[in-house]
Amino acid sequence: MLHLLNYIGGQLLPPRAGRYLDNVDPATGQVYSLIPDSDADDVQQAVAAAEAAFPAWRALPAEQRGRLLVRISELIERDLERLAQAESVDNGKPIKLARTVDIPRAASNFAFFGTAAGHFASESHLQEGVALNYTVRHPLGVVGCISPWNLPLYLFTWKIAPALAAGNCVVAKPSEITPMTAYLLSELCMEAGLPAGVLNIVHGTGPGAGQAIVEHPAVKAISFTGGTATGAHIARTAAPMFKKLSLELGGKNPNIVFADCDFEAAVATSVQSSFANQGQICLCGSRIFVERPIYERFKAAFLERVAGLTVGDPLAEESRQGALVSEPHLQKVLGYIDLAQQEGGRLLAGGQRVHLQGRCAGGYFLQPTVFEGLSPECRVNREEIFGPVVTLTPFDTDDEVLGWANNTDYGLAATVWTRDLQRAHRVGQQLHAGVVWVNTWLLRDLRTPFGGMKNSGVGREGGVEALRFFTEPQNVCIKL
Ligand code: NAD
Repeated sequence: MLHLLNYIGGQLLPPRAGRYLDNVDPATGQVYSLIPDSDADDVQQAVAAAEAAFPAWRALPAEQRGRLLVRISELIERDLERLAQAESVDNGKPIKLARTVDIPRAASNFAFFGTAAGHFASESHLQEGVALNYTVRHPLGVVGCISPWNLPLYLFTWKIAPALAAGNCVVAKPSEITPMTAYLLSELCMEAGLPAGVLNIVHGTGPGAGQAIVEHPAVKAISFTGGTATGAHIARTAAPMFKKLSLELGGKNPNIVFADCDFEAAVATSVQSSFANQGQICLCGSRIFVERPIYERFKAAFLERVAGLTVGDPLAEESRQGALVSEPHLQKVLGYIDLAQQEGGRLLAGGQRVHLQGRCAGGYFLQPTVFEGLSPECRVNREEIFGPVVTLTPFDTDDEVLGWANNTDYGLAATVWTRDLQRAHRVGQQLHAGVVWVNTWLLRDLRTPFGGMKNSGVGREGGVEALRFFTEPQNVCIKL
């Protein structure tokens, strides 16, 4: 069986204590590789390697650092198909999604931040005849990047690329549930000629390797994407050590459909925003609010399309819904389906585990599920389910829907469908969400600030925000 290895100091190494964790293929339920169950010793070795690499890495001209990142991007593109297959097997996502979204985006992350140094101006403040102030942005040193299982290589590289571009050295931990593409990335970094110790990838659990990264005194910042409870735990550990923290956490996003929308586009994209990656994207719109005049028509068209979503082997080209990531996660989502029924929801579609034949007989498949008739106050409409379960609710006025949309502890993303420009601006700006899409969903420009309000997180990623997070600003004042 394949044993994954840590990437430390430019080498692929087994865990020092020799312990491994099972890595399960969610489409089959079978263990198909083993991953290092790293501990504080492995993290210490990685931090030491990063510290040793830092002086030379920060001294390298930004353009040269950038060239290495662009080279990694090119190698990801070269290996797109292999990486897409690996992501699909590891996570259960349809191969088409991995091929068109996850892996291309991972390549873009390196290309974008690899060339960033040439795109952003540095700041200076002139007080005429008095002083010139300019801002130097120093790299922090060694930083920690910790990522979740839903978009494995995509989110891992979204952190690593800006951290490296800004001149830091990185100790990174992918989710122990989906470690494979991070392992393959370590091979590509070696091939690209990334200097030893600049990026270190330590595999293992959150309480084990993850906690050791967060606690390590030499790790100056933590960039974390994952669940809100984990984010709170990380903040409790890191804040008293005065570490910089970027926390990208959960969501419970509203999708608001006004009667004047482009109906076909709203229906088609709402199916995607509900069920892409089996609903396991933090940006999925799991609460669909539809203006009453088109509610019944929207419901019928939406359900018709949902019925056409083929649940199947993630590696099959025709599959539109793959497996959920793990048995415990499937059970959690099924628990919410039960809760929706207890809370008075009417099941309009799905609701059942899917048992496939053949290769995928042991996989964690679930029908795309739609409820209506649930109060916006109920738990199903307030808690993050992170699976293929959405609710439909009619509304009558802008104020009513805004109140419901904002009625959760989360504030990550929102979608608004309308042809009325003024309403789009008015409603969009009143939504408690860090990211608002109007007449689209998941359309991303990597220069824009990305992140959530309320319990969806602290700080923003993307573009100059990410480069700022990974640097320490210093003001130099020169008297004129
Ligand atoms: P998780 O919080 O369980 O794990 C995320 C990562 O943190 C994993 O690598 C895990 O090993 C690690 N971890 C766990 N405990 C830790 C600890 N004590 N110290 C350090 N690291 C620790 O989340 P998950 O289940 O992998 O991912 C799903 C969650 O991620 C959902 O809530 C989803 O909304 C959220 N998410 C948010 C965004 C965003 O951009 N806001 C993007 C994707 C996913």
